[in-house]
Amino acid sequence: MSVQGVLDKIKENNIQFVDFRFVDLAGRAHHITLPATEVDGETFVNGVAFDGSSIHGFRGIEESDMVMMPDTESVFVDPFTDHPTLNIMCNIHTPDGERYDRDPRSIAQKAEEYLQTSGVGTTAFFAPESEFFIFDDVRYESSMNTSFFSVDSEEAAWNTGRKEEGGNLGFKIGVKGGYVPVAPVDSQQDIRSEMCRLMQEAGLRIERHHHEVATAGQAEINFRFDTLTKTADNLMLYKYIVHNTARQYGKVATFMPKPLFGDNGSGMHVHQSIFNGDSPLFFEKDGYANLSQMALHYIGGILHHAPALIALTNPSTNSFKRLVPGYEAPVNLVFSKGNRSAAVRIPVAAVTPKGCRIEFRTPDSTANPYLSFAAMLLAGLDGIQRKIDPTALGYGPYDKNIYELSDAEKQEIRSVPGTLDEALDALEADSEFLTESGVFSQDFIDNYVAFKRTEAKAVAIRVHPHEYSLYFDC
Ligand code: GLN
Ligand code: MG
Ligand code: MG
Ligand code: MG
Repeated sequence: MSVQGVLDKIKENNIQFVDFRFVDLAGRAHHITLPATEVDGETFVNGVAFDGSSIHGFRGIEESDMVMMPDTESVFVDPFTDHPTLNIMCNIHTPDGERYDRDPRSIAQKAEEYLQTSGVGTTAFFAPESEFFIFDDVRYESSMNTSFFSVDSEEAAWNTGRKEEGGNLGFKIGVKGGYVPVAPVDSQQDIRSEMCRLMQEAGLRIERHHHEVATAGQAEINFRFDTLTKTADNLMLYKYIVHNTARQYGKVATFMPKPLFGDNGSGMHVHQSIFNGDSPLFFEKDGYANLSQMALHYIGGILHHAPALIALTNPSTNSFKRLVPGYEAPVNLVFSKGNRSAAVRIPVAAVTPKGCRIEFRTPDSTANPYLSFAAMLLAGLDGIQRKIDPTALGYGPYDKNIYELSDAEKQEIRSVPGTLDEALDALEADSEFLTESGVFSQDFIDNYVAFKRTEAKAVAIRVHPHEYSLYFDC
């Protein structure tokens, strides 16, 4: 949309406020709101100033004066405000007009620009499946209760809402029993439908929604694939609508990867492919799972760099509580067609050449979409450029359930890092694939690692409730 298009939209929709947004290091959106009467063509040239030193993760910069530069391609009418408000996503610039090298959205755009100069193709497409839980507010509060950490399954059943005081088990979803039952077992159809309706109005193309495997209202809504930065913008919009619709229903939604011990966590599988103009580059009729050599090399890059990549795709201490065996979250760094226990799956059912893609199943929604999509693309491109053959490196294909392999067979297979600190170690040791193209700066990596180390430390030094059952009576 042109600047004039945005100004027209403000008039046509009787917009009273324009909300300028940017995304911080952790992937949270921030905003500053201007009365529509203050917004004109100049606003799009000069941007909107803010104090960068007050944003967590952007600290330590010399210049605290930063500027939001609105992107007229990313605009939607806010469904939640009392006063008609137009939202515009922005890049962050320094006062002298440069893209700020810690701005996640600028990094996403640089990754797309790099693809275009790489000679590999013109366009990368991304589609995340971002799962989440919708909890009653009261249950959210009880999740803060120490008993949530209990190993006892009877207690886990209480905690996950399968049992309620004075209630019964009828039409309740048990642990891992939530995959697509109809109402009244699925009590959240309407809230998900309302989320979808609002997403459609805001411009997302919704493909489906459903109850997910875990108990207690685990949900998934799928929107259509798009280019890298656009998809990251779409994911920000998706999360905003999920959180605020839940709030309107008196509930709370969370994308935390593992809110419930003993049940499935929430992932964000990311489907990816590269095109040259209109031509899909990942399809080859007689290849393994109809994949081209280029697609296999892309997989090679993803799996080879996975330990480092995971510092960006699974960047929370809680991420690693999801990445454990037995809950449909991948632990093994292998690829396979169809097999959901592999880190990289190639969907094969009813897939056309244009729909041919790979699915990286490790990420979760604590990932900053701009940074994680950019990093996945760079890992894959490195695989293509260096012709990293995933089979020669022992990454598969594995077409059987990896959870059921013998111990000897399992020993051959590499696993995801076990903790955030391990992933950060891996990133420190392997960051050239992110920096050599200039997409990520070394300053960015150093700052990111330091930022995330403080989170890991903050969790590690706290006394864990489960330590009481292990050690209190020693
Ligand atoms: N929730 C699972 C995960 O953590 C995925 C379940 C599914 O979509 N099949 O990745
Ligand atoms: Mg899905
Ligand atoms: Mg799912
Ligand atoms: Mg999936």
